[in-house]
Amino acid sequence: MNFDTLGLSPALLRAISDQGYTEPTPVQAASIPVVLEGHDLLASAQTGTGKTAGFTLPVLERLFPNGKRPGDTRASRPRALVLTPTRELAAQVHASVRDYGKYLKLSSTSIFGGVGMGNQIQQLRRGVDIVIATPGRLIDHMQQRNIDLSGIEILILDEADRMLDMGFLPALKRILSVVPGKRQTLLFSATFAPAIKTLAAQFMHDPKEVQIAKANTVVSTVSHRVHPVDAERKRDLLLHILAEDSRRQTLVFARTKHGSDKLCKHLSNSGLRCAAIHGNKSQNQRTRALADFKSGKVNVLVATDIAARGLDIEQLPMVINHDLPMVAEDYVHRIGRTGRAGTEGLAISLVSHEESGLLRDIQLLLKQDIEITAVSGFAPTQPLRMDAGAPRPRQGGQRQNTSKSSRQRRPHTHERKPGGNTQNAAKRRGRGHGGRAQRNP
Ligand code: AMP
Repeated sequence: MNFDTLGLSPALLRAISDQGYTEPTPVQAASIPVVLEGHDLLASAQTGTGKTAGFTLPVLERLFPNGKRPGDTRASRPRALVLTPTRELAAQVHASVRDYGKYLKLSSTSIFGGVGMGNQIQQLRRGVDIVIATPGRLIDHMQQRNIDLSGIEILILDEADRMLDMGFLPALKRILSVVPGKRQTLLFSATFAPAIKTLAAQFMHDPKEVQIAKANTVVSTVSHRVHPVDAERKRDLLLHILAEDSRRQTLVFARTKHGSDKLCKHLSNSGLRCAAIHGNKSQNQRTRALADFKSGKVNVLVATDIAARGLDIEQLPMVINHDLPMVAEDYVHRIGRTGRAGTEGLAISLVSHEESGLLRDIQLLLKQDIEITAVSGFAPTQPLRMDAGAPRPRQGGQRQNTSKSSRQRRPHTHERKPGGNTQNAAKRRGRGHGGRAQRNP
């Protein structure tokens, strides 16, 4: 199938061709016509399958039929709003909107916390067609009356399940209360838990469904490997693996912010070019770490689960789980950073005896056994245990993923918002932010 059979105008087809895309991905082929017809849409597709273009292209076509803004007036109030769970994802979706809309007289802006509000206010005053926002900062602007959402025609929730996981629901309800009820709503997500579908039914109108991959499956271009190892030898094993090809771009996941800092320091001290990204870093540090990793200035990015969703790092060959995630679904999202858009990827997990139960959860979720091979010189003193009583790490009272409803019970304790201390919380309450539930991993 070609893009030009989908009903997109020449301005968009030209931009698509500039990106080097020759044919739509399955999620694009299925979603674009549905969105163009004006339906609400619930779309689930594996991460890295081209979801962003799947909604951006038809939204641009609807806002700019035949490449022109209706009436050809200047942009004033935003007409489309994209909500994302993380700042990085907002920035990334905004970059895609600009790429795909480069031949339109389109004005767009991204709005997220951790940076000053001044530029965002200026952009909003100048007039924008599309806003890509994280909920917390959007609500700040709503409270200060910097933004008028009464002209929203299309609302898009990207990584919708993550947004609900992260406790965004109160913020989301607040935003939904000010956007017009008569609108088109699109929900895009890698996975759709039943609870999300139930919730979606409350604010969507007779949505069409597009399901490209079964829930919690991983793309076939990723090879998985587990190396059993004693917890205290993980760092050495990590160095050993990274040393095999020190120029290879590798994303390393650690469980905690403190742990990722320590690991990054250790890797840097061992001569690797490394950066860390997590919720305690300033937005500037986060942006720089990601940019340095994308440009190859650093080869290793150590991340907490903030980097697990939505981030598109071109041709990332390898993801290493230094620690397994506490919630099995996060494994799918973590390794979804590699093997994107049909490229080959390798996902390695370093698993200690104490994490056996987490590995078991992952295998049960994927309905797939992952190859377990000890690396010579790093064989563990205690083997992994894969039976029902397999041990799990206890950490800061975190609960584990043992049932279907684990999604609602995601542990948050290790990833609090920077400045989420009592003093700042009091300040926020003073500004009328009480009850805001945004989390910032
Ligand atoms: P996404 O799932 O939206 O994060 O996209 C994953 C990657 O696929 C991005 O690097 C896109 O640039 C790329 N991509 C999106 N659509 C296509 C397409 N039709 N053909 C080739 N690559 C694509």
